[in-house]
Amino acid sequence: MAYDFDLFVIGAGSGGVRAARFAAGFGAKVAVAESRYLGGTCVNVGCVPKKLLVYGAHVADELEQAAGFGWTLEEGHFDWGTLIANKNREIERLNGIYRNLLVNSGVTLLQGHARLTGANEVEVDGQRYTAEHILIATGGWPQVPDIPGKELAITSNEAFYLKALPRRVLVVGGGYIAVEFAGIFQGLGADTSLLYRGDLFLRGFDGSVRTHLKEELEKRGLDLQFNADIQRIDQLDDGSLKATLKDGRELVADCVFYATGRRPMLDNLGLENTGVELDARGYIRVDEQYQTTAPSILAIGDVIGRVQLTPVALAEGMAVARRLFKPEQYRPVDYQNIPTAVFSQPPIGTVGLTEEQALEAGHKVQIFESRFRAMKLTLTDIQEKTLMKLVVDAETDKVLGCHMVGPDAGDIVQGLGIALKAGATKQQFDETIGVHPTAAEEFVTMRTVTR
Ligand code: FAD
Ligand code: NDP
Repeated sequence: MAYDFDLFVIGAGSGGVRAARFAAGFGAKVAVAESRYLGGTCVNVGCVPKKLLVYGAHVADELEQAAGFGWTLEEGHFDWGTLIANKNREIERLNGIYRNLLVNSGVTLLQGHARLTGANEVEVDGQRYTAEHILIATGGWPQVPDIPGKELAITSNEAFYLKALPRRVLVVGGGYIAVEFAGIFQGLGADTSLLYRGDLFLRGFDGSVRTHLKEELEKRGLDLQFNADIQRIDQLDDGSLKATLKDGRELVADCVFYATGRRPMLDNLGLENTGVELDARGYIRVDEQYQTTAPSILAIGDVIGRVQLTPVALAEGMAVARRLFKPEQYRPVDYQNIPTAVFSQPPIGTVGLTEEQALEAGHKVQIFESRFRAMKLTLTDIQEKTLMKLVVDAETDKVLGCHMVGPDAGDIVQGLGIALKAGATKQQFDETIGVHPTAAEEFVTMRTVTR
């Protein structure tokens, strides 16, 4: 049967754009449907605008440090409207770049909501298209628990377009987004509390990292409330919001921001017209090569719920394009040792096993841990400490994990990710010459076993 396209991609986000561009580059006839914004979550309401706001908040640190270096500054004034307008301009520029990338690689771009009408058929705005392969790359959407007053709360989607910086913010959640946005709101001057339902936030991260970040955020004056869960939200006469906690306490704020995880975006996708099945958590079930239970349909990125990070969606998109149209270049995605950063203030950078995971996996571990005040702060009154930690296998000397909390942690662990992928040992770390004077050199100069 002759199809309209070799590949029809639903969703022009991180994974979809990568798969479409490379498939077209390998000679396939490709279409992409996008209902909302080119570049997807990462470009529009994720990584990019988030990092720009983090930079904005970080300026407060630079201003605080300036006096130590001899600078006298007039009292600063922050304008939220300017930051958001400049951010929006940059996002529009990136939308244009994504459009050009697709069009210039020969991909047919369809603007509109795509709905599957069969295993080889998609409908966009009443028009039906057939394709030999269909790739679902529809990403995710914020999930807010079903509590009375949830409609009064906002999520990251709305936070990027707030008209004004709220004076008082309650951030709910203890994952990446909650910790990053608590830092943004507080850094820009809002009176911010972070409420997390468990004992300590960032479940799944290394224990030393979680404790260290908690201490540093508290030093900065962020109000951290653990074992705190909101039962209901009510609007008061003056427009502010009252959050009633399960323990009966009441907190009043101008904005309640929920970052309690994301669900797969499957709304009106027409999966019922296909044989595509979901897994127990509600994500699209795929095999090792991203094939769903309907053989002509594949899925990648946040919608399969493996690792919800842009570089992972990109790698999966690349793998699908190669598998379908350049099989001789196909290589499976390596999910081991994925480096990642949380852009909190200070940020976290991490790659490999946490101490807890290493012990659980049966390794005999040696821990090297260092806490120090960064050189840049020595001329200031700021007492922030940087944490660096190596988890080493005592029997093989292999470095199993590298963890950091401190300035530029994300940039620093990127290189360490290569070392771990190459199977580096602690001895090879020790034999590597440091770059002096930097914080990063501490990773190759830690000699004394802490535990
Ligand atoms: P998406 O990028 O979400 O793209 C899906 C696209 O599909 C969207 O454009 C959507 O409009 C479209 N779509 C959905 N349904 C349909 C339909 N039926 N028809 C047509 N189009 C449809 N990751 C990092 O690595 N680093 C970070 O710093 C980072 N920060 C983040 C900050 C925030 C606030 C958030 C929310 C996420 C962040 N992430 C970060 C995660 C990252 O954004 C996602 O992992 C990544 O975007 C997933 O890519 P994707 O291709 O699976 O989906
Ligand atoms: P996460 O899954 O990281 O965190 C969700 C948080 O919400 C957890 O602390 C969880 O608690 C808590 N939670 C879940 N349900 C409830 C509930 N019903 N009531 C109260 N608390 C609840 O999700 P995020 O929304 O922060 O981010 C989504 C994903 O996007 C991340 O996992 C990450 O993959 C990606 N991302 C990456 C970034 C980066 O690379 N820098 C930045 C932002 C997002 P518990 O731990 O107890 O389950």
